[in-house]
Parts: sequence; C-alpha cells; structure tokens
Amino acid sequence: MEMEELEYDLFEDGVLVKKVVIKNIKPCIISEGQISVLMELDSELHHVLPLLMAKFPPGKVNYLEKKNVITLSIYERLITIYPSGKVSMNKTNTKEESIEIIKEITAIINETHVEHKEGKSVDYRLIKEKLSKIGPLSIYSCLPQTDCEECGEKTCMAFAMKLLSGECKLNECMLLHEMGYMNNVKCLKSTVGIQIMEILGWKS
Ligand code: SF4
Repeated sequence: MEMEELEYDLFEDGVLVKKVVIKNIKPCIISEGQISVLMELDSELHHVLPLLMAKFPPGKVNYLEKKNVITLSIYERLITIYPSGKVSMNKTNTKEESIEIIKEITAIINETHVEHKEGKSVDYRLIKEKLSKIGPLSIYSCLPQTDCEECGEKTCMAFAMKLLSGECKLNECMLLHEMGYMNNVKCLKSTVGIQIMEILGWKS
C-alpha cells in the first residue's frame, strides 16, 4: 500500500526551496533497524547542484557531472540529490530526523542560489581541478608542524589527511589563529587558495 505523502514547511521566505514532501519511507537495506527516506523539494536544482561541490569538504561530496547528481556523505549517511529536487537519504532513524537534516542542507542550497543570482558563484570545475591536485603533503607543508594535538589529532600529518577526507576542519588547528603562525596561514593562502581553505573549514 502506498504511504500518504507528508508535506513540511522548511523556510517560509526561502528564495528557492520552501517545502519538502516525504514521498516514501522504506527499511534501510544497508543498516538494519534504520529507514531510507525519499523526499522531494519544491524546486528544481539544476543550476545549484554543481555549485554545491564547493560547499562541502572533498571527501564528503561526489558529483556526477553527466547526470548532474550530487551525493553527500554527511551525518553518517548518504544523501543523494537529483536535479528534479528529489532527495534520497539512507541510515536514518526517524522521519523527523530526515526533516532536520534536509532543512540544514536546503539552507545551504538557498544560500548557493542567492550567490548564483548575484554572480558570486565559484567555478566548480576550477575548484574540482584544484582539489584534485592538493594532497595531504601540500597542506602539511603549511601547518605549524608542532604535533601539539590541540586539534585532537596526534600529528599535523594526520590532521592534514583528515582535512581532505572531511573529518576535520581547518579552523580546528588552534595555532593557525595565533599571531605567531600568521605565516602558516599565508602559506595556505598561496598554496591552496582562500576558496579551498573555506571549503576545508577555514573561517577568517
Ligand atoms: S593543532 Fe595544528 S599544529 Fe597542533 S597538531 Fe593539530 S594541526 Fe598540528
């Protein structure tokens, strides 16, 4: 029997996405006891999906350019977003949880739409190309290299590797916020660039 569709308001004044409908809920095939939720947003997302690549760390996002489909590995689950506005989310506990998460993602989608309208979008192909050339060593070479563990990692190299997989944020290297390490920030700016630093979690 088909389930009744459930409509939720996300943002009354949303510039692109305002509502979401839960179309279907099924048992999650990869995680017993959890559910897989199929949703539909109230707007098409063709222009926004490639730009979302620059909003998540490289290890957390996979963009299929041919199909214009993006998959995010965030909140310990896979979330696939299609240009029609369809969204699938696995490993979820309740429908309410899926709504909380989709609200956070659609806030980013709406913000990206505004940037696009204002001509402030980044060139996602350029970002993709730059990211493909950045390895942990290029980041490590600009880190303080003290292995102080203030970020929660045992070494600066471990931190650099986790940065690229999206498990750490650049902002979590405490020393980079100190005056004495301004040259390390400058090094990152010239090596990876401010856009990539922001994708990696830098907040200046
Ligand atoms: S806080 Fe920064 S300097 Fe300290 S271990 Fe982490 S990455 Fe290295």
